[in-house]
Amino acid sequence: ATPTAVMVATGVGAANGVLIKGGDALERAKSIQSIVFDKTGTLTKGKPCVTSVKVFSDRKLIDFLELAASAEAGSEHPLAKAILQYVNGESPSDDEFSDQRIKAKNVNWLRKISDFDSVPGKGVQCNVDGKRLLVGNRRLLQDASVDIPSEAQEHLLKIEHKAESEILVAVDGKLEGVFGVSDPLKLDAAAVLQSLERMGLVSFLVTGDNWRTARAVAMEAGIHSDRVIAEVLPWEKVEIIKKLQKDNGLVAMVGDGVNDSPALAAADVGIALGSGTDIAIEAADIVLIRSSLEGVLTAIDLSKKTFSRIC
Ligand code: ADP
Ligand code: MG
Repeated sequence: ATPTAVMVATGVGAANGVLIKGGDALERAKSIQSIVFDKTGTLTKGKPCVTSVKVFSDRKLIDFLELAASAEAGSEHPLAKAILQYVNGESPSDDEFSDQRIKAKNVNWLRKISDFDSVPGKGVQCNVDGKRLLVGNRRLLQDASVDIPSEAQEHLLKIEHKAESEILVAVDGKLEGVFGVSDPLKLDAAAVLQSLERMGLVSFLVTGDNWRTARAVAMEAGIHSDRVIAEVLPWEKVEIIKKLQKDNGLVAMVGDGVNDSPALAAADVGIALGSGTDIAIEAADIVLIRSSLEGVLTAIDLSKKTFSRIC
């Protein structure tokens, strides 16, 4: 393809909300054989919403909610925001001021926390009112040898089979309650994955979330359960890309998070969502401004049209 053909393709991409950073990435896009999708915010809308709360201890619900939300107030994670919104009685909102509103409202009930730690891929831990709080997934509690009684195990399975995520809350070494959080698929996710399959590409789902939730989401999206890689720690995503490159040819990665950035950079074609973090957008070769997954098809299509022709 001539430089002019590449320029035209880049222009057509931009007009369709697909920002292509250079001719090399555009050329590689036509030869992609596998494509790895992050779950939260990539395949899903990325606006998780609390759908259930179950308290196993005899603590009052309001006290439980305030403890959990106080711990999560220190976290930037989308799941933390879901808890804060729930406790503030808000539904998720697209408006850019919603974060500030949460902070402003927090003042009423926010407890004094100390020794706050974010544990990557697992959750948060801190002291609240002299109590030790763990708020996160099973692994966070397991690492601290907190027992998950069978009643709670059954409850977790129900959440996972609904394709929902869970947030466990332990106080002073005892599991006290669980939040169920739903984050539905983007409307076009299943259709885009179907088109990719028809084009002969193999799609994978990579997530830090638990295996059962990940498989349930993959099933809704039409990704084969053998191609789900779950409970991945943030720094492991890049290793997964490298392994696929060895076994499966050219690999694209689609993601939005800070922890997707090394994988976006390592992939042959890194595709970031426009709604993603700046660092993901920076690391990617292609940015989907409208954050709709259809842009993946547009990019591959432009690549084929530009580079199969002899100019
Ligand atoms: P992903 O980007 O795939 O969601 P993360 O590494 O951000 O992966 O998170 C992985 C898992 O760690 C989440 O699914 C959740 O179970 C847990 N987790 C991380 N941060 C938090 C938090 N602040 N509150 C509750 N759970 C969390
Ligand atoms: Mg994400």
